[in-house]
Amino acid sequence: MEVYRDLAGLRAALAEARAAGREVALVPTMGALHAGHVALVEAARRPGACVVASIFVNPKQFGANEDLSRYPRKEISDIAMLTDAGCDILWLPPVEAMYPDGFATNVSVTGVSDGWDGAARPGHFDGVATVVAKLFNQVRPARAYFGEKDFQQLAVIRRMVTDLDFEIEITGVPTQREDDGLALSSRNVYLLPEERAKAVALPRALGVAARTILGGGDTARALEDATAALVAAGFAVDYVALVDAETLVADPAPGRRRQLLAAARIGNTRLIDNLAVDPA
Ligand code: AMP
Repeated sequence: MEVYRDLAGLRAALAEARAAGREVALVPTMGALHAGHVALVEAARRPGACVVASIFVNPKQFGANEDLSRYPRKEISDIAMLTDAGCDILWLPPVEAMYPDGFATNVSVTGVSDGWDGAARPGHFDGVATVVAKLFNQVRPARAYFGEKDFQQLAVIRRMVTDLDFEIEITGVPTQREDDGLALSSRNVYLLPEERAKAVALPRALGVAARTILGGGDTARALEDATAALVAAGFAVDYVALVDAETLVADPAPGRRRQLLAAARIGNTRLIDNLAVDPA
């Protein structure tokens, strides 16, 4: 795997790959990689493709009181993991290359960014859309891969790609989970052992609510029960909601794909998760 920290080097390597007829696929990440990220790289791999992963802990998507300074950084093990996963190029831009003095552009995707995590974390999705638009222009991939784990983020990216005519095929990759159901996340390392044990309540509560709703049970009651189960496990709940899987509005219309979304804090750690409410 080739590692680039300057845009000129990255662009020269990508020009060479394209000249050789290779299709470029991008997997954007913030590093501290786990099997969820590896699943994205594996989904991106195709015969003859050139898979580019990026690692950039994007300051613009962290709020003032969030975990930017303590966000885990593991460059050496990340490089080993990406190499093993068959990634071809790693783009590791320094912050000055992404946001040089005078940087003044903001990409804001209204509507789909507004509720849920957008409301709980003001500016977060502007930061995500801005950095992803920039990564798309730097790498110019034919395809890009994002996890369904960050369900609202995926919806924001899809909206941006449609609205701004990026010629990039976006693929959402199913959430990779621990054996007990907890979604893999770089932030899981913050969990103390007793918090980790309780965190399983999050996927469980979503599973129970999905079964209730699919079985024709009352949605409001199912959401209340899920919230109560999380509180009982020691979580402070930001939201538990049933939304339209494309627009993310609450109370989806009949016939629309539905998704349960949840965000909740245990100790100092904020976890998110989601689950499709579809007949299997
Ligand atoms: P992050 O490094 O947390 O910004 O995540 C980088 C990409 O990996 C995003 O598209 C995430 O949605 C995706 N991702 C993170 N955790 C998981 C997971 N457990 N399963 C699948 N994809 C994931």
